[in-house]
Amino acid sequence: MSHLPIDRPGFTCTQCGRCCFLPDAFSLSADIADIERWQEEGREDILEYADEITPDVVDLWINPNSGEECLDRCPWFRKVRNETKFYCTIHETKPTHCHEFPRNQEHAWKCGCPGWGLPPEGWKHPDGHVSPLTGRPPISIRLIGK
Ligand code: SF4
Ligand code: SF4
Repeated sequence: MSHLPIDRPGFTCTQCGRCCFLPDAFSLSADIADIERWQEEGREDILEYADEITPDVVDLWINPNSGEECLDRCPWFRKVRNETKFYCTIHETKPTHCHEFPRNQEHAWKCGCPGWGLPPEGWKHPDGHVSPLTGRPPISIRLIGK
């Protein structure tokens, strides 16, 4: 069964694509519930990119041809034609980590997700982290968006 929608009042995804690149947003692992869901859904196309290391740890995204981790970008990440917008081709069943991002406004600002707009001037996360939201996407996205 696909993920149930998460209610995030005031949040609008701008399809900026940052969460598919930024640390603490993009993940290279899945949980066992993801594996079971993909098995139930018959998503062999996704499962072939997953490597179960232990019953609790699943490595993503492993290129099935080379056996190497897809480190440059997620294999399901695509650009909308003629627009600087991005989308996930497995959106309805993407890993739980991706589905649950961002966990809240603070998490969004910490990671550089603009779904709740820009943080107030001088905002800092309680752990001291300064938001990477500067109005410009990361270089990796600017290159894809050319
Ligand atoms: S970073 Fe936030 S606004 Fe941008 S694509 Fe991801 S969820 Fe949407
Ligand atoms: S699975 Fe989808 S949401 Fe997650 S990193 Fe890849 S493209 Fe982004």
